[in-house]
Amino acid sequence: MSEFKLAKRLETLPPYLFSAIDKAKEEVRARGVDIISLGIGDPDLPTPNFIVKAMSEAIKRPANHQYPSYIGMLSYRKAVSDWYKRRFGADLDPNTEVLGLIGSKEGIAHFPLAFVNPGDVALIATPNYPVYGVSTEFVGGIPKYLPLTDENDFLPDLDAIDNDTWKSARLIYVNYPNNPTAATAPRWFYEKLIEKAKEFDVIIVHDAAYTEIYYDEANKPLSIMEIPGGKDVAIEFHSLSKTFNMTGWRIGMAVGNASLVKGLAKVKEQMDSGIFQAVQEASAVALNDGDLFCKGLRAIYKERRDVVIDALHKAGISCRVPDASFYIWSKVPQGFTSQEFVTRLLKQTGVVTTPGNGFGTPGEGYFRISLTVDTDRLKEAVLRISQL
Ligand SMILES: *Cc1c(COP(=O)(O)O)cnc(C)c1O
Repeated sequence: MSEFKLAKRLETLPPYLFSAIDKAKEEVRARGVDIISLGIGDPDLPTPNFIVKAMSEAIKRPANHQYPSYIGMLSYRKAVSDWYKRRFGADLDPNTEVLGLIGSKEGIAHFPLAFVNPGDVALIATPNYPVYGVSTEFVGGIPKYLPLTDENDFLPDLDAIDNDTWKSARLIYVNYPNNPTAATAPRWFYEKLIEKAKEFDVIIVHDAAYTEIYYDEANKPLSIMEIPGGKDVAIEFHSLSKTFNMTGWRIGMAVGNASLVKGLAKVKEQMDSGIFQAVQEASAVALNDGDLFCKGLRAIYKERRDVVIDALHKAGISCRVPDASFYIWSKVPQGFTSQEFVTRLLKQTGVVTTPGNGFGTPGEGYFRISLTVDTDRLKEAVLRISQL
């Protein structure tokens, strides 16, 4: 059988940083150790019943068995627009400023096809969700990474970017609440970002997948769509995945500047045929009726967060108390690299975490904990960590 060589765009991908961890995990598992995985950003809890019920009704309707519209049903786009209005006070026209996606990852990955020419520069705040850089490189764009550091509250230092870099940039990727650092961005940051984007004619791509996982009612994460001028220069990607425990359903949305939404729709028209309509109908129910569910979900994550933070601090491991997301971004103890610490933790305690450098160079010296297991397991995990 012939062994076919991959296209260059795949061969030049950075090496898979988690392969060493995967190997260690197999070894530990083979020893019969009870592994607790705090490594994956995938909610452990099921999709709530009211959404599953809406789905089981929607799936019975034959009209839903045909090709959906590639931009999304109007009823779904309207539910997105209504939700943005209720949650953020943002005005979005469901006809021109909202697009349905097969998960936000799909939209993020396809976006550069619409707006990046070979040689165009994309500024990417890092450590980051890897899709921004990879999808930029797939179309021949050039990622330029902006470091997120503790001293800058994990916000890119926009004033430190020189004018030539701003002028060369086609787009800038930001993600708040942030994966992996769990940081949120204040209003002034978005205002400044919008000002810069307007001055240098740069597209803002905001990934807002975690806005509903927050811990303080008085300090809710923002959408760039609620900041004056945001809709002029930005596209925002959002998703039902984390908000309603729906990662397996594959549904999300892009909202914002009409020409950006339209450009992405043009790519999708050529590449996919939309989201299963039954999923869209159930998702409209989720967005319209899900506020109470989200409140309960936040209470669960808050309990988990507090258990872990308390234990880490008692163990002398330094980390910030996150305001949002279901991650804890923690410093590795002195004398270890991220990879060394995470591997040691796994081998000696069976607890899986993610090395910070896997999300980009400035993540070195950190590890990420996901709060996606129940409180009892988390207590067991942190007990083991503290005995390391
Ligand atoms: C989970 C996640 C998403 C959501 O992905 P979907 O494709 O909507 O499931 C987007 N961005 C980041 C940073 C994430 O962690």
